Amino acid sequence: MDDKGLSYKIHWGLVNGGVPTSELASHFQSHSVRKQLTNGADRVIMHCHATNFMALSYVVELDSARFTRLLWEGSTECLVVFPDGVGIVPWMVPGTDEIGDATAGQMQSHSLVMWPFHGIFGAGPTLDETFGLIDTAEKSSEVLVKVISMGGLRQSITTEQLVALGKRFNVNPWQAALDTGPANVA
Ligand SMILES: [Zn+2]
Repeated sequence: MDDKGLSYKIHWGLVNGGVPTSELASHFQSHSVRKQLTNGADRVIMHCHATNFMALSYVVELDSARFTRLLWEGSTECLVVFPDGVGIVPWMVPGTDEIGDATAGQMQSHSLVMWPFHGIFGAGPTLDETFGLIDTAEKSSEVLVKVISMGGLRQSITTEQLVALGKRFNVNPWQAALDTGPANVA
């Protein structure tokens, strides 16, 4: 990239007429936010169409705190892996500066962002860690798809237990997701 971020030169790959991803705006704007926020630690912005995570976007309330709480309850490891929760943007046309702005805006406070009916964005220091982050959210989503298919949650991890989990693993869970109360997908 040039200093102003207005043009690029290909150093490797993209042979035979290959071009960068159509989501270049979302990647770059998210990089810019995460680089500042993490003092350069986050070097990867990954996007994919995680199946179960996407499926949930059709049936859950599209509220970041409520959805984060649901995923935290969907698997015990989730609160430890993404204590900052999941941001959600409205459905938008992909491949635009606008969805890049909205995604980067959510990246200010979340390492994961949902694009409803489309997929997920994750931010992390390495490819492995970022893939792991997305995979953790996807795994919890798969559990929840099964749970919802079986008729919904009859019991789950409580707020007190989530707080204890955060203490044990030295993470600060997003307060809004704790405050929003038990997950309810009915
Ligand atoms: Zn996509």
